[in-house]
Amino acid sequence: MNTNANNAPVRRALIVGGGFSGMAAAIELRKRGVDVDLVEIDAGWRSYGAGISLGGATLRAFRTLGILDEFLRRGSAHDNVDLHTSGGHLLATLPTPRIAGPDVPGGGAIMRPVLAAILAEATRASGANVRLGCTFASFAQDDDGVDVAFTDGSKARYDLVIGADGLYSTMRATLFPDAPSPAYTGQGVWRAVLPRPAEVDHAMMWLGPKIKAGVAPVSDQEIYLYVTEDRAERTHIDPARFLPMLQELLAPFDVPVLQAIRAQLGESSQIIYRPLEGLLLPRPWHRGRIVLIGDTVHATTPHMASGACIGIEDALVLAQELERHDCVDGALGAFEERRWERCRMVVENSGRLGEIEIAGGDKAEHGRIMRDTLVALAGAI
Ligand SMILES: Cc1cc2nc3c(=O)[nH]c(=O)nc-3n(C[C@H](O)[C@H](O)[C@H](O)COP(=O)(O)OP(=O)(O)OC[C@H]3O[C@@H](n4cnc5c(N)ncnc54)[C@H](O)[C@@H]3O)c2cc1C
Repeated sequence: MNTNANNAPVRRALIVGGGFSGMAAAIELRKRGVDVDLVEIDAGWRSYGAGISLGGATLRAFRTLGILDEFLRRGSAHDNVDLHTSGGHLLATLPTPRIAGPDVPGGGAIMRPVLAAILAEATRASGANVRLGCTFASFAQDDDGVDVAFTDGSKARYDLVIGADGLYSTMRATLFPDAPSPAYTGQGVWRAVLPRPAEVDHAMMWLGPKIKAGVAPVSDQEIYLYVTEDRAERTHIDPARFLPMLQELLAPFDVPVLQAIRAQLGESSQIIYRPLEGLLLPRPWHRGRIVLIGDTVHATTPHMASGACIGIEDALVLAQELERHDCVDGALGAFEERRWERCRMVVENSGRLGEIEIAGGDKAEHGRIMRDTLVALAGAI
């Protein structure tokens, strides 16, 4: 494969994967007049999961994308995160800087399918050509472009291909066959969506010896609950056991609001369990005219609630660098240079928080890493 990208500007781009990162890339490239095809393997373009927590840096990225108002209308924005012991004693209130502007709270949360719908509406409105239930079958690049064959039998040539197909990326496996695989971290996370008790008007967390529980409003009416649990092996859990297992994990927390939430859990609660995995692809993240973004190259555990943030930021920075440079190679090199340290920091700090939780380790170090990471995320991208 010839990987010397020449100086032709990007007029036509393909994005593989319609998750948060791929949709953000489509929106940003369309703003700059690039013709965008986006292929998404899931014919229903579904988004699974409960709530998703978002920091101030994510809200700043939403502002740039142009979806902040819609997020504020359909999600929940709030300041600060309260950290407690499992007995309810307040350890610290972590300030969440108002990174998106003085008028926008420093964090928030929203139902994941609602955020996906907001981004999908903006992607379609941008004029990107979205093809569902379709993906690449093969690609071959030369100095001037990338020839792509699709699973629906069609073929097209692009100036740039962006792989945004997530943790189990086929793009990554094809472009970098020796890339590491996602690794199980030794923790799983339980999540559920429940009616909002009046006192849950911002993010709150309770740190047990090893188990951590947290809640955040996702709208005026609902909250999502998460519980992280250490498990030496990556186990499959029968969904029939979800309810009693989650109730049991919450039992030791001697906190009235958590016990009231626990009492609300029932057969109709949408409970999900997911083993946590991480991946940080060593550089490079591009080869020739093909670049990888989002979870495809830096999948973080959710300890800093920043996975969506760094994926969407990738899209913003990539579009900026493509605009700044005459040659694709220069743009992709500059993109990687700007993104590597920030994404490494999020993945590794989140991983360290998980290690401390698994070991029942130092709560002060845990709090310090959270605070340092929040401060670093407030920096310019
Ligand atoms: C349990 C859990 C909780 C989390 N909580 C938070 C949180 O609170 N806050 C936060 O910011 N982040 C959180 N994250 C991380 C966040 O979900 C991810 O970082 C984010 O979804 C990454 O977006 P992405 O677009 O890069 O990848 P993905 O969301 O994985 O999107 C990839 C897309 O590509 C599609 N696709 C896959 N293969 C192909 C193919 N071959 N061809 C075409 N399309 C394909 C998929 O269907 C999907 O639509 C959490 C993650 C987990 C696992």
